[in-house]
Amino acid sequence: MSLIVQKFGGSSVANPSRIKNVAGRVNAYRKKGHRLVVVVSALGDTTDELLKLAAQLTQKPPGRELDVLMSAGEQISIALLAMALKELGCEAVSFTGWQVGIRTSSSHTRARIHHINPNRILEALKEKKVVIVAGFQGINSCNDITTLGRGGSDLTAVALAKALEADACEIYTDVEGIFTTDPRLVKNARKIKKISYEEMLELASSGAQVMQSRSIEVAGKYDIPLHVRSSFKKNEGTWIVKEAKLMEDVLIRGVSVNKNEAKISVRGVPNRPGIAAGIFKTLADKSINVDMIIQNIGKSAANTDISFTVPKGDAHSAVRALEAVSRKIGAKEILMDPHIAKISVVGIGMRSHAGVAAAMFETLGKNKVNIEMISTSEIKISCVVKQADAEKAVRLLHDKFKLGK
Ligand code: ASP
Ligand code: MG
Repeated sequence: MSLIVQKFGGSSVANPSRIKNVAGRVNAYRKKGHRLVVVVSALGDTTDELLKLAAQLTQKPPGRELDVLMSAGEQISIALLAMALKELGCEAVSFTGWQVGIRTSSSHTRARIHHINPNRILEALKEKKVVIVAGFQGINSCNDITTLGRGGSDLTAVALAKALEADACEIYTDVEGIFTTDPRLVKNARKIKKISYEEMLELASSGAQVMQSRSIEVAGKYDIPLHVRSSFKKNEGTWIVKEAKLMEDVLIRGVSVNKNEAKISVRGVPNRPGIAAGIFKTLADKSINVDMIIQNIGKSAANTDISFTVPKGDAHSAVRALEAVSRKIGAKEILMDPHIAKISVVGIGMRSHAGVAAAMFETLGKNKVNIEMISTSEIKISCVVKQADAEKAVRLLHDKFKLGK
């Protein structure tokens, strides 16, 4: 009899009929004799709707109150799922994060889990109940409610799997698993059977948003295998696991596309020490995350152009902040382009095989896709291209690296 942690995302519990579907699945596992801890997210887009309500009242909602507000979403889900299970004759009990002692750091809206006291869950399991836990929430040392960052129910599931030493951790979602690329863009995209934590993290950070990045990090740290699968279909999904030797035989695991960044160029800045620091300190002070950075020599060697990408939502405030310092650093102009896309190829096979970058650039070049920026890590190569070229680029690379069915 194994102990399984199952997490159902917002789309899996979006309405009463979907909650019934989840209850049916959970009950089927229960009947096989498994002990189950079920983590749920808020119904559908509840979290976004709660945030919109707050935005109608204030531009700057206090973090503490935001957490009280947002955590309400998951509290609705756990109660409804418990009712649906009881209706099926399955004994179940719902708990909020604080009731099961999910202790976190104090930073509101992006708290980290420090410790979980599993006693209450273990007691309920002993009473043969299905335990339902609200995802995304915890409690800090002041006994205030915290949340774990958007998509944080994944983290709740992973942390519970660790604390309870679960035999399996299943992440149920509205897709069938992790694909070699977005199946909406490329018809012959294939479901990946096994992917390493590292590859998954790189794909997640470069646009493929199936799981919260932090949860993958934690799963990797404690070597907790994750099974990402559909809540509507029965077939196996994708396993996210520790890297194994055999996995290196595959050169590229997947291609991702991220259209959520904008490119900013600071043109004609004097080429002297301290300029880059001035620019990026300005952005850091505004808590704006910078991703790719390139620096070019401008028309004369005395001047340089610095370009970088930031999240689209931060682009205007970044430009405003830079305009304020541009006089000080003597920049000629600041340009912003939101119509870009970042295309990334990811695979641990890159570590042991040369020539991936060349193949990528050649494929794009031959097909007249202009590369505006490049960045690399040990297992990833990313290129910024015009957004209008994004889908073509993804298709070309998916073909080039033979990722299709
Ligand atoms: N409901 C939260 C969110 O939408 C947490 C989650 O879905 O995992 O971010
Ligand atoms: Mg959600």
